[in-house]
Amino acid sequence: MSPIDLIALSADELAARVRDWDWPRYRARQILRWLYQARITDIAAMTDLSHADRTRLAAEARIGSLAQSEVLASEDGTRKFIFPLEDGKRIESVLIPDEDRLTLCLSTQVGCTLDCTFCLTGQMGLQRNLKAHEIVGQVLAAQRLLPEDRPITNLVLMGMGEPLANAAAVEEAIRRLTNQTWGLCFSPRRITLSTAGLSSRLKQVARMGVNLAVSLNATTNEQRNRLMPAVNKVYPLETLLAACRAFPLKPRRRLTFEYVLLAGANDTEQDAARLVKLMRGLRCKINLIPFNEFPGNPHRRPSDERVLRFQAILIQHGLETYIRKSKGRDILGACGQLGTLPDVSVLVRPPGPHSPQPIPIHSHA
Ligand code: SF4
Repeated sequence: MSPIDLIALSADELAARVRDWDWPRYRARQILRWLYQARITDIAAMTDLSHADRTRLAAEARIGSLAQSEVLASEDGTRKFIFPLEDGKRIESVLIPDEDRLTLCLSTQVGCTLDCTFCLTGQMGLQRNLKAHEIVGQVLAAQRLLPEDRPITNLVLMGMGEPLANAAAVEEAIRRLTNQTWGLCFSPRRITLSTAGLSSRLKQVARMGVNLAVSLNATTNEQRNRLMPAVNKVYPLETLLAACRAFPLKPRRRLTFEYVLLAGANDTEQDAARLVKLMRGLRCKINLIPFNEFPGNPHRRPSDERVLRFQAILIQHGLETYIRKSKGRDILGACGQLGTLPDVSVLVRPPGPHSPQPIPIHSHA
C-alpha cells in the first residue's frame, strides 16, 4: 500500500487517521503545525513526537511537497516559479515584491476552461483542477525558498485558472492558509480571489472571507462576449453586476474591478464613461491593466496617453482608479502571461542579451 500523503489530508481526515492509530487527539494538531507552520518535509523532524511514533508514522505516511523545477527572475525583482506536479503537469506561481509587501500569485487550475481572448492560460484549455494541497503547496514551496525574515505577506488567486471553477479545493486551501491555530495564519484580508465572473459562486467567496476581485474588461455585453465569451454567455454583465451588488461586503472592505485595457477594443472615452455608470453604487476600486502583449495574440497594448486618459475620466467621476504596473514582463510573469504552451516555451527563460521582448501573461489580470 502506498504511503499516505499527510499534506493531502484535510484536518478532519488527519484527525480520523490519528483516531485509527489510537493516538491522543492533540497529535493531529501537532502534526498539522509541523506541516504548515514549521513547513517540514521530513517526518523525522517532528521532534515533539516520540521516536517510536515517528517511526510508525514514517512507515505509513510521507509529506508530499512541490518540487521546484525552475525559478525565473525578472530584472524588477519579480520571480516566477514553475512547479512540476506529481502527474508531470506544470503550474506557475509569481512572487511580486512591492515596497513592504511580498505577494504570491497562485494558480488554481492547470490551464483554464474559460477562453478569455487576452489570456495565455485560456489558450491551454483546462488540463485539470488543482487539489487543495497543490494550491497551499505553492505557498509552502515559495516560502521555503525565501529567507526566514522575508515572509510572504499577501496572496492573490489570480494565476492560472478560474478559482471559482475549482471552488471546493480553493475553499479548503483557504481554510489551511488562514487557520490561526495550526495553519499558515494569513489574515483573510490579505488574500484576494479574482474571478472572471462566475456570478452564482460569489456567495462562496463571501463564506471564505477573502477579498473579491472581478475581472470585468468590458462595458457592454457585445464587447464582453467578444473578449470573454465563455463566461459572459452564461453570466452577462447585468447578472454579474447584480451579484456584485448583493455581495455582503464587510465594513472597510471594497470590491476590486480589474480592467485589462486593449487598444481599440475597450479603451475609448465612451468605454470609460460606460464604466462609470456600471460602477454606480458599488463600493469599489478599479485596477487598470494595460495589456501585456504576447506572440500570436492579436490584442495590442494601448498608448500610455490613452491609459492615462481612461484613468482620468474614472477619477473625475469619483472612482478610485489605479494603473497596475506590469511586473515580470521579461519572464512571462505578468498578468495574462501564465501558461506553458509548448510553442511559447522558448520564451520562458531568464532574461539575457538575447531574451525576447517583454511579453505579457494571466489570468484574471
Ligand atoms: S483570464 Fe482567467 S478565467 Fe480567463 S482564460 Fe485566463 S485564467 Fe481563465
